[in-house]
Amino acid sequence: MAQGNQQIHYWKLSWKEIAALDRDSTLIIIPTGAIEQHGPHLPVDTDIFNATAISEGIAEQYKSSKNRVLVAPPIWWGTSPHHLGFPGTLSLRNETFAQIITETISSLLPHGFYRFLLINGHGGNAGNLTATVSQIKQDYALSVPTLSYWTMIKQTLIDIGTSPLGGMGHACEMETSLALHLRPDLVRMDLAIAEMPTEMTSWSCIDFRAGGPVGIALDFKRDSKHGIMGDPTVATAEKGKRIYEDAKKAIHSCIEELFALKKSQLLRD
Ligand SMILES: [Zn+2]
Repeated sequence: MAQGNQQIHYWKLSWKEIAALDRDSTLIIIPTGAIEQHGPHLPVDTDIFNATAISEGIAEQYKSSKNRVLVAPPIWWGTSPHHLGFPGTLSLRNETFAQIITETISSLLPHGFYRFLLINGHGGNAGNLTATVSQIKQDYALSVPTLSYWTMIKQTLIDIGTSPLGGMGHACEMETSLALHLRPDLVRMDLAIAEMPTEMTSWSCIDFRAGGPVGIALDFKRDSKHGIMGDPTVATAEKGKRIYEDAKKAIHSCIEELFALKKSQLLRD
């Protein structure tokens, strides 16, 4: 039986409706992203918009299911100190970001919710999210899965990518394609410029398809002229549709496996 109200947005429910949710068959997605410069051709909300759009697309798929997926208020700000050299960026300190995630979950946990998924849209958040869910496990005995959407579709990105390695990094072939699919009215393709990354070492390549193993803190003002790493000029709406659909499919399949986990596997008494 599908649960009553088919609203996918957590914040549009009343407390009575939230109280009535079946805890075992409800999973809450928390989208995370960033407000940061994305070159001259994309809006500064690109990362949180993409994470939220994918989250909403997945929640929609559960509308007639016995399980329910709700999207929590997206966490708009991320950790973007490497973009602060450009106007437009709003960046949180690592501890602030971790605290917002933790306190969102610690507000829900006492009311019986224990199935969560963090869907991330900003590369700069990934390390922090791993550390944060580890701390949540230690402090609340709760396992919170976290993923960055592009890591779920590496093969898709390899298949559709027409730029050389380095072409999918930031405001790049991938992110621009997604934007052309999801909201073309906000993309200024006439301002898109190919700006291939100049790595500090041959071990630290930045690309969503195959990043190098060595991480070196970036500084986009130092490392790029226009705030781009990659080649947005080869982006297309068609590629964006593939990225969006394949990301939804992969994450949906992951969520099915998360629903199959018992409460005791996610939350220790
Ligand atoms: Zn981005």
